[in-house]
Amino acid sequence: MEITFYGGAQEVGRSCINVLSKTKQIMLDCGIKLGDPIEYPIIPKKDFKRIKYIVPTHTHLDHIGYLPHIIQRSKSAKIYATKPTRDLMQLLLSDYQRLQEKKEFSTKDVEKVLEKTQQVEYKEKIKSKGMFSFILYNSGHILGGAMVKVEDKCDLLYTGDLNLRETKITEGAQLGIKAKNLILESTYGGKTDKLPSLKIASQNLIESIKETLIAGGYVLIPTFAVGRGQNIMMVIESYMRSGALPKVPIYTDGMVNRANRIYRHNVIYAKEEIKMRILMSDEDPFKSPFYKIPQTRDRSDVLSEPCIILSTSGMLTGGPVLTYLQKLIEDPKNKLIIVGYQVDGSLGRKLIDGEKYVELGHGEDKKEYEVRMKVETVPFSGHSDHDELVKFTKSIKGLKKVFLMHGEPRKIDELAQDIQKHLKQVEIIIPKNEESFKID
Ligand SMILES: [Zn+2]
Ligand SMILES: [Zn+2]
Repeated sequence: MEITFYGGAQEVGRSCINVLSKTKQIMLDCGIKLGDPIEYPIIPKKDFKRIKYIVPTHTHLDHIGYLPHIIQRSKSAKIYATKPTRDLMQLLLSDYQRLQEKKEFSTKDVEKVLEKTQQVEYKEKIKSKGMFSFILYNSGHILGGAMVKVEDKCDLLYTGDLNLRETKITEGAQLGIKAKNLILESTYGGKTDKLPSLKIASQNLIESIKETLIAGGYVLIPTFAVGRGQNIMMVIESYMRSGALPKVPIYTDGMVNRANRIYRHNVIYAKEEIKMRILMSDEDPFKSPFYKIPQTRDRSDVLSEPCIILSTSGMLTGGPVLTYLQKLIEDPKNKLIIVGYQVDGSLGRKLIDGEKYVELGHGEDKKEYEVRMKVETVPFSGHSDHDELVKFTKSIKGLKKVFLMHGEPRKIDELAQDIQKHLKQVEIIIPKNEESFKID
């Protein structure tokens, strides 16, 4: 078995790994790296012919964004995914298609991706001629998120994005899987990366929101459409319902709303507590009276009274969150709460780093704004932290080799050192993009 990293090595973005033998193939993830410009996986021309089977682990664009490009070139390609992943893929790929400056693929290509996607369940063994057989396990990252275990003489487990902690909606990742080889994500693998539990993260978030609401300000939370958005709105809603937060509208804007509908539809994949609430009571956690949706194009209805706004995009690289930011940024009463990972170069990262002036708006409307609103970081991650990544690795049975990817180089190095300390017999490899490895 030979594995090649087309993308996602020593970086966060464009995860894409091809697994090949003389007679079998499977590709794990097929993402893009968002930024300016967008970066694609580096796939040699000759390799396209041998891409037939693809398994996306979950619906974030750094894991699925390149699928329409592949489908254009490999007509016989077949995709396998869980139902939430398939349903959410339509939303995210259509949005990506719409926002492309230079149209490299069409809505037809997005439709083709969906047509070619076969739904699979967790723990179901999938076999096909010419394909490595595989099994999906819950990765805990977002609804429908999966790890892939490729089965051969040498089992290979690929984590995709991994979260060991339960969230408001999903259970933590499956532990104790048997595999000789592991490809592990390292987003928060740095020595000092310690993420709080759901309870502590929720309390920190609520305290931060409360302070601003009491002072009469607006709270703006940029969020990914899928995963974090749903988790955070449910945390805020539950505290508000219990009386721990002033009762103000919780506005959700951008793709979060469409993703919510798909989440609600796929609630069978959520954790027991959410399913029971919907089945056994009238109280539907997706339909609280506190949730509001903007009714005007300029969002003036939203900004008529202090409130909480959750909007895409998560790194402030586009979407309605920028409309709100423009209106709220120069008032020190307001607060921007950053809850997720901000890639280098994104506006989100610049604001965390204390940039004093930023340019916002389009065309004639474009101008420089002074950052006077408060900017706070309250980690609320969909990923595992350093200790949990070590714990996960220790739980794998029969482990011989670990490949570390999906992280900044410094964090990957720190994680490698610590895993080695705990697991002396295991070989740790830090691959580069375009590198191939024979494993057995
Ligand atoms: Zn992800
Ligand atoms: Zn990712």
